[in-house]
Amino acid sequence: MNDICQSYKDELQRLEASGNLRKLPSVVHDGKWVIDGGRKMLNLSSNDYLGLSTDKALRQEFISNRMTEECLFSSSSSRLLTGNYTIYDRLETLLADLFGAESALVFCSGYHMNTGILPAVTDSTTLILADKLVHASIIDGIRLSQAQCVRYRHQDYKQLEMLLQKHKDNFSRIIIVTESIFSMDGDIAPLYKLVDLKKMYPNVMLYVDEAHAIGVRGDNGLGIAEEQGCIHDIDFLCGTFGKALSSVGAYVICRKAIREFLVNRMRTLIFTTALPPVNVAWTYFIVEHLSQMKERRNALNLVSSRLRDALRVKGCDVASESHIVPMIVGKSSDTILKAEEMQRKGFYVLPVRPPTVPEGTSRLRFSLTAAVSEEEVGRLIEVL
Ligand SMILES: *Cc1c(COP(=O)(O)O)cnc(C)c1O
Repeated sequence: MNDICQSYKDELQRLEASGNLRKLPSVVHDGKWVIDGGRKMLNLSSNDYLGLSTDKALRQEFISNRMTEECLFSSSSSRLLTGNYTIYDRLETLLADLFGAESALVFCSGYHMNTGILPAVTDSTTLILADKLVHASIIDGIRLSQAQCVRYRHQDYKQLEMLLQKHKDNFSRIIIVTESIFSMDGDIAPLYKLVDLKKMYPNVMLYVDEAHAIGVRGDNGLGIAEEQGCIHDIDFLCGTFGKALSSVGAYVICRKAIREFLVNRMRTLIFTTALPPVNVAWTYFIVEHLSQMKERRNALNLVSSRLRDALRVKGCDVASESHIVPMIVGKSSDTILKAEEMQRKGFYVLPVRPPTVPEGTSRLRFSLTAAVSEEEVGRLIEVL
């Protein structure tokens, strides 16, 4: 009899043979450590960049000031129906105030954000110019849109300028899309350059995803846009709550008209159940404290620069300027072996392979957090 799953099984075998088969890791967490197969390892694969999600005291403070009736675990509805609890409006007002912007809008996740905004604000007369290395959720957003799209070489702004020149009169609108800190290389986009480019044309807008930078960079933790002084020049200033902010969800900082338009047109906002109010309350609590977390930001910057410097001394080509520090190995199978070796030595680091990164650039991706001590990063450098 024909096995209707045979083609899936064949593909899985191909993935296994090329070292690219993925499995869901079953790890047990213990603060900043993870335990797997009886081995306790320092978690160097987490996005808990400020160490907030493993901070018990912080959680305690949040819970002890909360009444049971405030702890709603479901919104039971889309925000457009009855799911729009007041905590949503409070969070959006807080965000808009912090950024000094007209408005903010909150979503269920970064994936919802990126797959929802781009299809909503574009049509067939729009051109999207996206960095070659933008996150999969942005790619999916582009795919779901009616817009045409050209991907420019990673951070090649000469090419971007040429594309703008060539297409400026052929489209009603052009949107430049980039991340600020890039997920896989940890390098940083000079947003001020993109702002200068955009300002040369009346029909060009700028979309920036700060998923890895919010909380971590800038004096008040508002991201690279704050650090580079261009918050007000970015049309869609996006970020997520699931990484440094130790919560769940995402936001865009934008003009009022854009917010209103999204509320009317953004399918991933309209057709999904709103986040549970208790999660939004926790996000509010964290965002309120964000400007006071300078010490954590400094600690993270310190361990990150130590690791980057050490890798450079070892002759590695390190493009990173952040707490995301990849060590490129090359072949997927070699990368898996290296990751296993690191795990045996007590450091939980994971291999990143195609299709997440380009073929032949499989890597170990160290994702540092403020919970990693100087002594621990010193030991890591020794065993590398
Ligand atoms: C993690 C990430 C997302 C997705 O955010 P979630 O809230 O986890 O869905 C989007 N964009 C970038 C650049 C990311 O790194």
